[in-house]
Amino acid sequence: MTHRLIEQFRRRHGVQPAVSRAPGRVNLIGEHTDYNGGFVMPAALEFATWAAAAPRPNRSLCIHSTLNDDEVTVDLDHLPARRGHWSDYVIGVAVMLQRAGYSLCGTNLMISSTVPVGSGLSSSAALEVATGHALVHAAGGKIDPVALAKIGQQAENDFVGMRCGIMDQYISACGREGAALLIDCRSLAARPVTVPDRAALVVIDSKVRHQHAGGEYNLRRQACEEGVARLLPVLPGISQLRDVSVTDLERHGGLLPDMIFRRCRHIVTENQRVLDGETALNRGDGAAFGQLMRQSHSSMRDDFEITCAEVDLLADLANAEACCHGARMTGGGFGGCVVALVAAHEAEGFMNRVTTAYAERTGLKPMAFACHPGPGVGLVS
Ligand code: ADP
Ligand code: MG
Repeated sequence: MTHRLIEQFRRRHGVQPAVSRAPGRVNLIGEHTDYNGGFVMPAALEFATWAAAAPRPNRSLCIHSTLNDDEVTVDLDHLPARRGHWSDYVIGVAVMLQRAGYSLCGTNLMISSTVPVGSGLSSSAALEVATGHALVHAAGGKIDPVALAKIGQQAENDFVGMRCGIMDQYISACGREGAALLIDCRSLAARPVTVPDRAALVVIDSKVRHQHAGGEYNLRRQACEEGVARLLPVLPGISQLRDVSVTDLERHGGLLPDMIFRRCRHIVTENQRVLDGETALNRGDGAAFGQLMRQSHSSMRDDFEITCAEVDLLADLANAEACCHGARMTGGGFGGCVVALVAAHEAEGFMNRVTTAYAERTGLKPMAFACHPGPGVGLVS
């Protein structure tokens, strides 16, 4: 991938670029908890986005994606507002970098990616983190990975208009080879968690993505904020659902309309599942972790209502396999992927059986792969 991208860059711009690589991610457990100040457990994937970059003589930014062979050129000193175009993600990153005081220079950027787009494996964060890293390095600067993650999130929140939490950008910037990270999305501290040797992480893409996903995502966020506002009189001092315990919610849930109660119950119980999941993995207990994954899926389906028929079917097919400790939808929802923890020596057969059954039932062609957690953003040689 890197070699082809460098060749293409040299043909287009006549100079040798530096190449930044940022991975996509899979979240093992902890969905929609990040923007509630809670806990998540993602791992960086081998699938990644590469941004080749070299300075150019004027103050413009030329952005090319090999995905659609599309190119846009903008003026760094007069960056345009959001246009509803894929380049918004990159322009948003440039806006936020300059706003945070990073001095950028005119840059040619060429982007290529192996992260499936729109599948919930976070091609958008990989794009933001790779291009942010490339822009800072092209200008001769350096950026701390957590600072880079925040820039990417700001770009997506305030420029693209998607009110996502910090998880995707954080893991793309700070991922660890061989480990998932338990991230405290309030303090932004993280610690590695490893999957037992005898278990494999399998991801299956349902190949379904519902149109309204972005709008529904923002609505879920609003419902969580409403829950906090309604609980505040009886739980003074809370600022996010992170501050509400399962017992708090049981005691005061009557103050909430049913829909808001269920949204809050997902977040509050999901936070606890992430912490319990860490304990289970740390004692090598794949079966206990799998049980939490199953509970997480039911909670997303019944309480948070972010799954869909196809993803529910895929999770059910996976969970019905004897070798599967547990499976759940991963990512923002309304389609996308399922992640499963399965006995390692059975992973190949598991993928074949589940994808075949899913294809027979839906007529869709799912894609499955076993993943090995990789590192976060960096320059590639
Ligand atoms: P996800 O992050 O789950 O893949 P999103 O809807 O958040 O899905 O982001 C996908 C969008 O990001 C695409 O529609 C496109 O605008 C942009 N994008 C991601 N990767 C690339 C790429 N390599 N080239 C151009 N645009 C990209
Ligand atoms: Mg995304």
